Amino acid sequence: MTQQDYLFDLEGKVAIITGGAGVLGSTIASYLLSQKVSVFLLDLNEELLQNAVAAMKEKGDIHGLVCNVLQKESLQNCKATILETHHKIDLLINAAGGNMKGANIAPEQSIFDMNMDDFKKVNDLNFHGTVLPSMVFGEQIAKSGKGSIINFSSMATIQSITRVVGYSSAKASVDNFTQWMSMEMAIKFGDGIRVNAIAPGFFVTHQNRAVLLNEDGSLTERSKLVMQKTPMRRFGKPEELNGVIHFLSSDASSFVTGTIIPIDGGFSAFSGV
Ligand code: NAD
Repeated sequence: MTQQDYLFDLEGKVAIITGGAGVLGSTIASYLLSQKVSVFLLDLNEELLQNAVAAMKEKGDIHGLVCNVLQKESLQNCKATILETHHKIDLLINAAGGNMKGANIAPEQSIFDMNMDDFKKVNDLNFHGTVLPSMVFGEQIAKSGKGSIINFSSMATIQSITRVVGYSSAKASVDNFTQWMSMEMAIKFGDGIRVNAIAPGFFVTHQNRAVLLNEDGSLTERSKLVMQKTPMRRFGKPEELNGVIHFLSSDASSFVTGTIIPIDGGFSAFSGV
């Protein structure tokens, strides 16, 4: 086999997916299992986690660990458990996150009514919840000199989205941290470690279903606006993240670091006019 044959090979890698019991995280997990990757789902929601692991256990080497990405000790315990049996970490996918209703500005409100506690909470989860796992698991990746970290950004960082103030600033911080961490890892720990982010467009999941769809499944007024600005005129399907995840996880992207890749049906490219 030539070096080219191994470009996209993921077999035998060990992956951690934070927020792994969620819609996007568990779809990615299922795909990575099909590529013979060992997968650890880390999630705060024990019930969702058990269901996700049960649904995928026939597909390969899958494990679920209850974990809070905002608590260093919880992350460290998970790291110890993973290393005990699997001895390495190749991939860290920081998918834990999402918007929170209280952190949005309601239609009858303005920025001057913003609830700072909710603003902090959404920044905590999305931003600190990316930084902390990157510190805990990234340290192990740095020791081995090879690995890939993939963060979750959002369309909310590219252009402003009405009402969504806290989540936007949190994900903008994730973008900045992705670039910073890519530099830190490459300069201090070598060119085998890469840090990138994906920026999904609009995918219907637990956290945004009520915003995007009416109870009868039709588009809300807000999602009609999303469609107007999405040249492909549809939501993304969770499986449509898998190609970029595979690329960023494999040696095919060995010189790619510090990037934020939109997966958005053209949303970020289109002015809307
Ligand atoms: P989801 O709600 O289905 O999944 C998020 C998961 O994170 C849940 O299982 C939840 O239990 C877990 N979680 C929450 N707090 C946690 C904590 N403190 N510790 C550990 N786990 C925690 O949402 P999703 O749409 O699958 O979101 C995955 C990622 O994709 C998020 O970062 C989200 O911001 C991002 N994203 C989603 C969209 C979209 O359209 N759905 C678009 C852009 C970015």
